[in-house]
Amino acid sequence: MTEPVKDRIRADVAVIGSGPGGSVTATLCAEAGYSTLLIEEGPDLPLDAMAHFSGEEILHKYRNAGVTMAFGHPSVTYVEGRCVGGGSEVNRGLYHRTPPHVLEQWVASHRVDALTPDELAPHFEACEATARIAAFPGTPPPLSQRLGDGAVRLGWDAVAAHRLYDYEAGRKQSMSATFVPRFRRAGGRLIADMRAQRIRRINGRWEVAVLHRSGPMVTIVADTLFVACGAVQTPALLRRSGFRHNIGNSLRFHPMLKAVALFDAPVNRPGDPDPVHQIKMFEPRFGIGCSISSPAMLALALAANPAMRARIGADADRMGLYYVQNGTGHGRVRALPGSRDPLVSVRHHDIELDQLYDGLKHLVRALFAAGAQAVQPCLPGFGLLYSAAELASLPARLSRKAAMLTSVHVFASCPMGEDRRLGATDSWGRIHDAHGLRIADASLMCGPTIANPQGSVMAIAHRNALHAIERRFA
Ligand SMILES: Cc1cc2nc3c(=O)[nH]c(=O)nc-3n(C[C@H](O)[C@H](O)[C@H](O)COP(=O)(O)OP(=O)(O)OC[C@H]3O[C@@H](n4cnc5c(N)ncnc54)[C@H](O)[C@@H]3O)c2cc1C
Repeated sequence: MTEPVKDRIRADVAVIGSGPGGSVTATLCAEAGYSTLLIEEGPDLPLDAMAHFSGEEILHKYRNAGVTMAFGHPSVTYVEGRCVGGGSEVNRGLYHRTPPHVLEQWVASHRVDALTPDELAPHFEACEATARIAAFPGTPPPLSQRLGDGAVRLGWDAVAAHRLYDYEAGRKQSMSATFVPRFRRAGGRLIADMRAQRIRRINGRWEVAVLHRSGPMVTIVADTLFVACGAVQTPALLRRSGFRHNIGNSLRFHPMLKAVALFDAPVNRPGDPDPVHQIKMFEPRFGIGCSISSPAMLALALAANPAMRARIGADADRMGLYYVQNGTGHGRVRALPGSRDPLVSVRHHDIELDQLYDGLKHLVRALFAAGAQAVQPCLPGFGLLYSAAELASLPARLSRKAAMLTSVHVFASCPMGEDRRLGATDSWGRIHDAHGLRIADASLMCGPTIANPQGSVMAIAHRNALHAIERRFA
């Protein structure tokens, strides 16, 4: 149950956005004894309110029913969760800690204090104690195993990734199942269906103008304010409110290219567990993995390949959808006057697209090594391939027009660090020259996480919230 809406709500600490960053932050503040309010634009729905990856879920738990676009040449279609728990409710919960080489790079590029793997380890451990992670028990489903087998046959390494998942209970460890209940047990107040419109500083406190879905405008007044709306909406809200310094200038993605493999035997049965295999040995150039391969997801991926798409009805159980992704794409977020949604733009260097295309060719090779009869790259103008040898017939470079990029990972729009020329905040998420105003989400990353990002978002939010509480939010 969320609380009834009043005109003016007072709290010691307010957190805007209930994704992994916001939920972890709000929980620690409530447990430290501060009256803490967590507000969320989307609805408060149980984890199992609707089937995972169903059209209904996309309609109710995604922003703009899953249709959001970063404009560029090529553009990137990306998705964001918009519900209590944010992206953690709609994702697969594939889990990795931030790779040490990524942390080293952030410390060097943005001068972030106290961000070595050893310094971050206790925060990973603390988050993993509440949102539990586990390896797949037994043999992963065939669609997943095939990618692993293909990699091994080529002499490559594949891993079966851990997930934020309780395999015994059959339950994902999303925020609504883990940190949000802990927040409520600590006396925290959550109000859903509330969209923060603007922030301003009045009489030494932060005031947030929020609009409830049912119409009324409400003012939230807090001594300390954490903005945790995700890497696109956080800079949009801050820029709408007049904060500009390194806000929304450095958005990064993990853009993906996809391919569908057609196998000789069923690999993809309704009710199969989510796939977990990944090929990470080529990172940071690119990483390879398995996608959800329901008929709806196959149809979406094959939008530009009608011949293969037409086979879904008869052959979906023999089809698997796979991806290659890397940490490319340089984006900007700008608030548009009078528009609810920000303008997001992106540009790619040639070499970044070349690496991604090279990754797609590696993926195709792995799928043929796994026994695929045919592989369809999900790109306009690309035909069905019947052997790895046919890769030689593909264009040497991927044209910008043909690059159909999608992404589910966004970050780094308001990076942290002591280097003020690059950072929007200091090393702990404090926005420069705005006492009591902090960022607590994926925006703070100093670049792509390369690995799946949710673990990094949670651990860094945990680190920063403890640091704030220990210093009484000074
Ligand atoms: C389909 C999908 C699959 C993914 N798969 C994985 C995976 O397997 N593993 C992994 O590690 N990561 C995965 N991710 C990424 C992961 O979910 C994100 O990195 C993570 O959720 C980011 O957390 P966050 O707190 O920064 O923001 P979010 O999770 O985006 O949460 C922000 C919240 O703030 C709310 N909000 C926004 N604006 C406002 C406003 N103005 N007022 C009030 N509330 C607002 C939003 O509605 C949202 O609920 C996936 C993401 C998606 C979408």
